[in-house]
Amino acid sequence: MSGTVALVVGAGEGRRFGGAVPKQYRTLAGEPVMRRALRAFLEHPQVTSVQAVIDPSHRAHYDAATTGLDLPEPVAGGVVRQESVARGLERVAALKPDRVLIHDAARPLVSAAVISRVLAALDASPGAVPALPVADTLKRGDGGLVTATVERQNLWRAQTPQAFRFADILAAHRRAPASGLTDDAAVAEHAGLAVAIVEGAEDNFKITTEDDLVRAGRLLGASETRTGIGIDAHQFGPGDHVMLCGVAVPFERGLIGHSDADVGLHAATDALLGAIGAGDIGSHFPPSDPQWRGAASAQFLRRAGELVAARGGRIVHLDVTLICEKPKIGPHRSAMTARIAAILGLAEDRVSVKATTTDRMGFTGRAEGIAAQAVATVALP
Ligand code: MG
Repeated sequence: MSGTVALVVGAGEGRRFGGAVPKQYRTLAGEPVMRRALRAFLEHPQVTSVQAVIDPSHRAHYDAATTGLDLPEPVAGGVVRQESVARGLERVAALKPDRVLIHDAARPLVSAAVISRVLAALDASPGAVPALPVADTLKRGDGGLVTATVERQNLWRAQTPQAFRFADILAAHRRAPASGLTDDAAVAEHAGLAVAIVEGAEDNFKITTEDDLVRAGRLLGASETRTGIGIDAHQFGPGDHVMLCGVAVPFERGLIGHSDADVGLHAATDALLGAIGAGDIGSHFPPSDPQWRGAASAQFLRRAGELVAARGGRIVHLDVTLICEKPKIGPHRSAMTARIAAILGLAEDRVSVKATTTDRMGFTGRAEGIAAQAVATVALP
C-alpha cells in the first residue's frame, strides 16, 4: 500500500489540565476533543488511514470517544511524546505509506486547508510544519523581572500536523536521541532533513487549559443559554431606610433580615445561581453563619457572578422586579441599575430594575414587606 497515514497522538497525561477526564477526551461542543481531531483526518480526501496513539490507561475514554469511527486498534504510547510517535510510526510502517501526518490529539480545530498545505509542501521538502509568526514582543524574564527583549524576527510558533515523507521520518526517529525532542520537526532537524514552514492557523491551537476549552467551544459556536429565576421577600421592621438593589432608600421603616435584607440583590443572586445550577443563596451564605450578620448583599451577588465566570459563562441579562406599595422605586431605579451593573462588571443595558405594586392585595399590598423576583440569562460554553 502507499498513501498518507495520519498519526493522532494523545498519549500525554495533560498534567496542566485539572479534572478527572484527560483533556483530549473532554467534551467540546458535544464531541470529545480527540474525536474531532481524528475526524479531521478521516474526512480528508488525501488521507488513506488514521492511527491513534493513546495512553493504555485511557482505553475506556478512547473507546467511548471513537464509537462508530473506522479506526484500527490504537497504539500504546510511551512515556514521552517522542517515544509515542516512534511507536506509532513503527506500527504503520507495515502499511508502507509514502507520507505521514503527525498530529496532537489536543488540537481539535485543525482545518482541511492546513492538512492540505503541509501535504503539498512535501513535494518540495521531506518535512513540513504549519506555523505562525510570533506577533507579540518576546521577553526573557527571571524572578518576575524582564531581563531582555528577544528579537522576534524569524521566530515561528510550530503547530501540528507536521508532515513528512514516511521513510525519512521513520529513519530519523530510529536514529534520534532517546528523548528531549519536543516535536517531530525537531527529530527531522536532528537528522538533517529540510523542514518547510507553511502557514498554520490561529484556530489550530492546542487545548492545554480550561480556558482553551472554553475558547474552542466559542469558536464552534457552542454556547447554550440558561435562564434562572430568583424570588425573595423580607418583612418590614424598625428602621429609617431599606436596602434595595444595593441602594439605601430612605423610608420610615427598615427590612428585617440576617444580612442587610436586600430583597432585590437576594433575588438576583438566586437567579444567577439558578442559571448555572449552583444551589441557592442560603447554601452559599448560610443565615446560621454569624459572618453574614448585617452583611452587604453586594458580596453575595458578586460571588454568584464569579461562579458564573468560573463556569466559563457570561451574564447576558439580569431583570429584577421589586414588588411593593412603598417606598416609591422610580426615583432610585437608575441608581439601582447602575449599582447592580457595577457589582457584576456588566454594561448597564444588561441590567433591568423595575417595580410593581400588587394593587393593595396580599402582604405587599398591606405593606407588610417587600418582595422581589429576578430572571437571569446566562450564556455557557
Ligand atoms: Mg433574602
